[in-house]
Amino acid sequence: MKKYNFNAGPSILPREVIEQTAAACLDFDNSGLSLMEISHRAKNFQPVVDEAEALMKELLDIPEGYKVLFLGGGASLEFCMVPFNFLEKKAAYLNTGVWATKAMKEAKLFGEVVEIASSADKNFTYIPQNYTIPTDADYLHITTNNTIYGTEIREDIDSPIPLIADMSSDFLSRPLDVSKYALIYGGAQKNLAMAGVTFVIVKEDALGKVSRQIPTMLDYRTHVKKGSMFNTPPVVPIYSALMNLRYIKAHGGVKAMDKLAHQRAEIVYGEIDRNKLFVGTAEESSRSLMNLTFVLKPEYQDLQDEFLAFATSKGMVGVKGHRDVGGFRASCYNAMSIEGCEALVACMKEFEAKH
Ligand SMILES: *Cc1c(COP(=O)(O)O)cnc(C)c1O
Repeated sequence: MKKYNFNAGPSILPREVIEQTAAACLDFDNSGLSLMEISHRAKNFQPVVDEAEALMKELLDIPEGYKVLFLGGGASLEFCMVPFNFLEKKAAYLNTGVWATKAMKEAKLFGEVVEIASSADKNFTYIPQNYTIPTDADYLHITTNNTIYGTEIREDIDSPIPLIADMSSDFLSRPLDVSKYALIYGGAQKNLAMAGVTFVIVKEDALGKVSRQIPTMLDYRTHVKKGSMFNTPPVVPIYSALMNLRYIKAHGGVKAMDKLAHQRAEIVYGEIDRNKLFVGTAEESSRSLMNLTFVLKPEYQDLQDEFLAFATSKGMVGVKGHRDVGGFRASCYNAMSIEGCEALVACMKEFEAKH
């Protein structure tokens, strides 16, 4: 039976990206050696990092003055590296969920943290709209896509202070105006690559503004200077990222990814709203195009386990919702096909007919 991978992360990747990475793990670049057993400083590996950076710049139309980095540590280490490198006195955070809260917790170790708005009052089911950005803060931190709650800021907001964004789960799903950001980061394992690499896009002249000492490995300037090669980077994950960047380019770039995201969301949210058994959890205007969250209506709550078992029997993988939200979550990253969304909808319809 065909499986449809709706996992929230690590998550679906194009089949050819997986095959190409697997092939390089057996024989990299016709060298007779595995990608796993060569030096990151090998003559034939440098072009991998160079092309990945160049493709990222091309796909997102990244302006001059920005550097693309491939690091270890995941988005979670960025929660600490961001304030280490940018927080002198005070930072502003928009609290839209668990990941934003974790980012704030780390920032508090370095200075004052102002929570400019929060949607905790309604279990993060919406993106706060009315807030004031303090102009005396060192930066504003946002989480563009809230993977757990299925809400998203799918636009590049205006900020009078340097804007820093955790884009772990919607990166490369739409065109970006990178010039509005001082730094963009995320774990690759949601929409870019296999787990193990963290992407960072940083405006070079935004760095070096804090007075504290920064440990070498946690200082962005180290990695800018060394082109992500200060120490051994995650070689295989970076290669998988390159394969995916090539895939995205070959399939029409981020504009095409954006169009697909809208098509998928229309299909799945359309069914969530139509089906008598289900209801979406996020406020409509805040709905994520990446993680589509829904629950059974109160009168059908006892069907929870049955629907999960039914969906699983039809080939749906990973549709169980996060424990903080319950219900179901269909994560529809770039590689999720329209066919996959239609299969999920057919499954919801069939389940409705049974009840
Ligand atoms: C998954 C996720 C993280 C955590 O990423 P790691 O790479 O596992 O540290 C952070 N932020 C968001 C929005 C996420 O979805």
